Amino acid sequence: MGVLLEPVRTLFSEKIPVIYLDDGVASATVVAMTSYIPTIGMEVHAELHTKTKMFCASKNDPDEVRPNVNICPVCLAHPGVLPVINEEAVRHVLRVGLAIGAQLADYTEFDRKNYFYPDLPKGYQLSQYEYPLVSGGTLAGVRITRIHLEEDTASSMHDDATGATLIDYNRSGVPLMELVSEPVIHSAAQAGTFARELQLLLRYLGASEANMEQGQMRVEANVSVAPEGGPLGTKVEIKNLNSFRAMERAVAYEIERQTQVLESGGTVRQETRGWDEGKQETFAQRVKEGSADYRYFPDPDLPSLRLSEVASYDAEHLRKTLPELPWQRRGRYTAMGLRAEDADLYVRDARLGSFFDTVTAHWGSAGDKVSLASNYIANDLANLARISDNRDSELENILPISADHFIKIIDMVFEKKISSRSAKDLLAMCIAEDRDPEDLAREKGLFQVSGEAELGAVVEAIIEANPLVVSEYKAGKESVLQFLVGQGMKASKGSADPAKLAQILRERLA
Ligand code: MN
Repeated sequence: MGVLLEPVRTLFSEKIPVIYLDDGVASATVVAMTSYIPTIGMEVHAELHTKTKMFCASKNDPDEVRPNVNICPVCLAHPGVLPVINEEAVRHVLRVGLAIGAQLADYTEFDRKNYFYPDLPKGYQLSQYEYPLVSGGTLAGVRITRIHLEEDTASSMHDDATGATLIDYNRSGVPLMELVSEPVIHSAAQAGTFARELQLLLRYLGASEANMEQGQMRVEANVSVAPEGGPLGTKVEIKNLNSFRAMERAVAYEIERQTQVLESGGTVRQETRGWDEGKQETFAQRVKEGSADYRYFPDPDLPSLRLSEVASYDAEHLRKTLPELPWQRRGRYTAMGLRAEDADLYVRDARLGSFFDTVTAHWGSAGDKVSLASNYIANDLANLARISDNRDSELENILPISADHFIKIIDMVFEKKISSRSAKDLLAMCIAEDRDPEDLAREKGLFQVSGEAELGAVVEAIIEANPLVVSEYKAGKESVLQFLVGQGMKASKGSADPAKLAQILRERLA
């Protein structure tokens, strides 16, 4: 797709790759009736969860709403300041690398990526170019190229009233992890699965909140389309994707757009496009710089790192700090016999997942009670929790029912002491009142009446109250038995065992 002109030689030529210029022809020749294959590579930036910023002691607090309070001469780029590498941020990236089975670097260094932007006070970003911390690995079936560490820019706000642009330096210098995948994704849905799994991983590792709406995780998709079997097409980078849904729609739109361009004999331009949420389409933003435009070179103020010389970067030690990972947890749940969607619900929703773990630990991990409990957690409890969250208008970190109470309810329904209808009612009552479910069941008369004597009394009462129906039954109209059973259920407020009730009725009326 490109014609090699000549390697660019500069002061730092050993770090600069050759430049390719688009010849604008090769990718345009397309045979009609070809089927087109989309190829997608992902670039994800995530703000890391650390006490301080990447190269200084200013607080890293994404919740700070006052502008320009977490700042210092280093992240404001005053002359003469010296950056210091944040050990915690390096550890986060190494742990992500270990989790995805990647290779950790032994040697690494930080480079200056030179470009000017009002929210980049130094005029360059400290990043990693030739020696990323992490290489390789696989996430959600997608091969990872690299993960490196860099710093975030400040954030700028455009004030329409005054026409001014305001800059908040709280974010300037916040540790940023950049992950780049191989171009091996072939659909919008697969891109969505990948991004969701990465968000989960970052949350499980405590590396990042990774909230897309708040810009803590920023996903860019490189989309190209090419005739089947041919070389990769010209890639277009899509930015401004602040939700998974927006990302999936933008990728799907771009696949469609590029396919149409190629089908009509046109050329796809290499550019950066944004996503317009209102119009639900991508739009051209700018023609992308090549990496040579950034004039990368090693930062002279930062030491290079020999990771094996730093005790807290020891891979074996770090591996022991890894929690159960999202896919391991999913595997554990499916091995317990849970349905895939329930397993995924517990992996994604920490609150329901740990509740399920607590509850099932009580009985041991297999068996009928586990699947029964899972039905009530994934359906009834999940819905009731959502309702109670809305009522309290805040998301609480715990479920509105204790594991003890829940376990009692499941035990009662499992032992057929209460009906499944009553179990659902009890759940709601326990959430509303936080009382012992056995007490509540007794008070509300929810225990199933299955004793011969108790049911016998119910049956006597029905027979006495319905002489006409009884005589019809005795005359051979067996279908009225259902009516009598219904009367019995009503009289016992649903607590009778209907099969037993029918059996006793038949006996007494024989
Ligand atoms: Mn970056």
